[in-house]
Amino acid sequence: MSLRTNPPWEDVQNYINGKWQPPSGDDSQDIINPATGESISSVKFSSSDDVDAAVSAGQEAFEHWRSTPVEERIQPLFEFKQLLEDHQEELAEVLVQEHGKTRAEANGELRRGIENVEVACGIPSMMQAGSLPNAAPDIDETAVRKPLGVFTAITPFNFPGMIPLWFLPYAVATGNAFILKPSEQDPVIAERLFELLEQTGFPDGIVQLVHGSVDTVNTLLDHKGIEGASFVGSTPVARTVYERAATSGKRVQAQGGAKNHIIVTETADLDFAAKKTISSACACGGERCLANDIAVVDEDIYDEFVDQVLEEARAQTVGYGLDDETDIGALITPNHESRVRDLIATGVDEGAELLLDGRDVEVSGYENGNFLGPTVFGDVDPEMTIAQEEIFGPVLGLVSVNNIDEAIDVLNRSDFGNAASLFTDSGADARKVRHKADVGNLGVNAGTAAPMAFFHFGGRKDSFFGDLHAQGEDMIHFYTDKTVYIERWPGN
Ligand code: NAD
Repeated sequence: MSLRTNPPWEDVQNYINGKWQPPSGDDSQDIINPATGESISSVKFSSSDDVDAAVSAGQEAFEHWRSTPVEERIQPLFEFKQLLEDHQEELAEVLVQEHGKTRAEANGELRRGIENVEVACGIPSMMQAGSLPNAAPDIDETAVRKPLGVFTAITPFNFPGMIPLWFLPYAVATGNAFILKPSEQDPVIAERLFELLEQTGFPDGIVQLVHGSVDTVNTLLDHKGIEGASFVGSTPVARTVYERAATSGKRVQAQGGAKNHIIVTETADLDFAAKKTISSACACGGERCLANDIAVVDEDIYDEFVDQVLEEARAQTVGYGLDDETDIGALITPNHESRVRDLIATGVDEGAELLLDGRDVEVSGYENGNFLGPTVFGDVDPEMTIAQEEIFGPVLGLVSVNNIDEAIDVLNRSDFGNAASLFTDSGADARKVRHKADVGNLGVNAGTAAPMAFFHFGGRKDSFFGDLHAQGEDMIHFYTDKTVYIERWPGN
């Protein structure tokens, strides 16, 4: 079987209780290829009846799934991993056409998703709790982790092939049922993932897909039949999702937006740091929660670093993600492109020096695409809007500082705490940043601080609401609750 990769595609469907069906709400949204401006599909939003049907099917399926031997529960994930590998190129092609990123970026994202499936296959070991013989006189105590029921995840547009896999494999391998509500901006890839899941042998109701927007999310968050919710998206929405899900008594983890910094010290390998800085700021068109779009640079090497960054930025090719030479693809929508353009204008108005202006970029043959070239600002003051707000476009700001302490101070004054990177040859500087930087992911001589799937994906301050994060062991804790058996056997 091959996946459908050539649009136009028919309207995307929900996958509820093992069956494909159109969402039955009133609203809908066109899916537009961000590079060509062409309509490639459409998504109708789910009604509360659709959500009810998915939750009921999940609850029913959970009753059997929770006591299905764990070894059996992970077999469909092994199948799923193989199907993802076999269809990775087709999935990447779909992703490029609805998201706008490059083929290499799409493949990279899918690889990261697959790694989460692989980690979840180890749940028989990861899910064990603990036991202590003779915990008290004649008493043995054993803790076990139990699944809880139906969980949901609400995911953003920027990694639509990967982020659902931060959650789904762990939820189901631990014995729960799972409902995905993907972004309405690029929902086709979720449909393709579920076309593969359909072939893996999960019982009906264990993995389900409902499309929609705000109302569908709120219905899921308020639903008494759902035990817990994971959210990834912008900070204002993450905050309200966290509050709303908690109000209805759910477990909730809500990952928000970001503003990430790179610190470059005077001992750094500047050529390497410049390459990594541009790739971190511009890859995926800057639409990454791990994009480091502010570089905080020691004044002694500031001028040299600026030259190298500009050289690197000018070498980037902007174009259609399906063209192999493209480094920077299209932004998700014309609205988002205008927002980034407005932020660039604000940077100019507030007095930053526009060293490279990507606003005039033209991509021949794709005049309707949402393109922006790499844009670099020098002399950025940490109080400026472009230094404080998440831009989510290929825009880099450079801040000059006196020393490492001032650099850490700039970083820690941010409202966000998702990630940072440090380029240095000094162990002492690295140690200082490790101890003082208030971020959840820290790269040292690594441009984009993306943890592998067996580690949790951190985030602090306005970048995260909750305690247990996505990926790795945190997911086991999120998707299970522990019961302790305290046992005495008379006559022993
Ligand atoms: P978004 O907040 O607009 O949407 C995310 C999800 O929430 C979507 O499924 C959407 O349908 C739903 N949604 C939107 N508005 C809602 C509302 N008012 N009430 C309830 N649900 C709502 O985010 P986006 O634009 O799709 O994604 C980009 C954002 O996600 C950026 O801020 C980025 O930093 C963040 N992000 C964070 C991480 C992380 O790990 N911290 C990872 C990826 C993306």
